[in-house]
Amino acid sequence: MPQPHVAVIGTGVIGAMTAWHLARRGAAVLAFDAYSPGHDRGASAGESRIFRTAYKEGSNYVPLLCQAGRLWRELEAGTTTELLTMCGGLTIGAADHPDVLAVRGCAEENGLDHEVLDAETARRRFPQHRIDDDEVAVLDPAAGVLRPEPAVQAALRAAADAGAAVLPHHPVDELAETGTGWRITSGGEHFDADHVVFAPGPWARRLEPLRQLPIEVRMITACWFAARDIAAHGPDRLPIAIRRHREAAFSCFPLLDGVAIKMVPHHLGFPALDDPGALPRSAAPEFARAASEAADRLLPGVTPHPVRIGTFADGFTPDDHALLGPLPGRRNATVMTGFSGHGFKLAPVFGEIGADLVLRGGTEHDIAHLDPNRELVRDA
Ligand SMILES: Cc1cc2nc3c(=O)[nH]c(=O)nc-3n(C[C@H](O)[C@H](O)[C@H](O)COP(=O)(O)OP(=O)(O)OC[C@H]3O[C@@H](n4cnc5c(N)ncnc54)[C@H](O)[C@@H]3O)c2cc1C
Repeated sequence: MPQPHVAVIGTGVIGAMTAWHLARRGAAVLAFDAYSPGHDRGASAGESRIFRTAYKEGSNYVPLLCQAGRLWRELEAGTTTELLTMCGGLTIGAADHPDVLAVRGCAEENGLDHEVLDAETARRRFPQHRIDDDEVAVLDPAAGVLRPEPAVQAALRAAADAGAAVLPHHPVDELAETGTGWRITSGGEHFDADHVVFAPGPWARRLEPLRQLPIEVRMITACWFAARDIAAHGPDRLPIAIRRHREAAFSCFPLLDGVAIKMVPHHLGFPALDDPGALPRSAAPEFARAASEAADRLLPGVTPHPVRIGTFADGFTPDDHALLGPLPGRRNATVMTGFSGHGFKLAPVFGEIGADLVLRGGTEHDIAHLDPNRELVRDA
């Protein structure tokens, strides 16, 4: 049977991984992006991403995470760059904090290796964190740090090697159903496809067929703090961390650039934007001051004033779980969007699922919680 022509709209990490899986399974792939692979205007850039397996977001992700881990290694085997460094992962907070309980619960329920360190042991092993006497640290050894820009590029190279046509700087302006497939217009050129995969990240609602989806664009801001002892903050000594401390909540990444560790302060919020085009290129001074205060209190080995700040956009759904499946109300269309600030680590398995949906009309992976038809209410 001839393999279908598939257009993938958007080659952030999700579209790139989907293009890879589709192409290696024989589909004729056209992969469009408005910008360059690994660009910094959307959700798939900023030096590092967390991979973890004991997942506070729910046990239904664990089989997906295990498969994602295997696929990261497979993709990495075809590159010269380490994409995933298994430095381990800490969740640090009060023993009864909901996120600490959720991580422990997920690890126990799924028989995942983990250690629960009391405050004294955690301080001895990880002096990079200030930890109070009533806190614990849950160590997930099946966690690590991913490199987003090389990862997107590796997936697109693998897709191209398998025959995909990768088209950066090709914003898709219009899509029309033709009865048997789709006509795609980009910069005045027309392209025909049997099936469209929509992977536009936070730009979803700019595309007419996705306009009704409950995707909210939000800004996530990352701050880099210079480490006083560079060696002590590299991935061989500092795991990724989810830190919960009274009013402060942040994720923390080991030093990869020779200068600074990265912190994403969750407690300062992920404000909504009208459109990814409205993303400010830096943070307000009060944001920087508040992030500095948290670093000063909880990360004793850094100079607590950011040497670098980066702003990024991701698409969020009302329940913080992605939309992944056939696009409601349309034929020959798959939607993959709304990864809600935690999609990167899972991208290789989501790409595999995207290819399953296009080529086989279904998947063995359990993705019921990501069904685009589930009941979701969009705010105003
Ligand atoms: C700062 C930050 C930190 C995060 N941390 C983590 C983490 O530690 N671990 C984790 O697992 N996840 C994390 N996430 C979430 C994860 O990075 C995202 O969920 C994921 O990258 C989403 O990828 P995407 O491909 O859907 O979106 P994007 O990367 O934004 O890609 C969408 C692409 O579509 C293109 N596009 C859109 N419209 C069009 C069009 N009309 N024509 C052509 N191209 C178009 C865009 O140019 C873009 O390249 C984080 C996200 C952010 C922003």
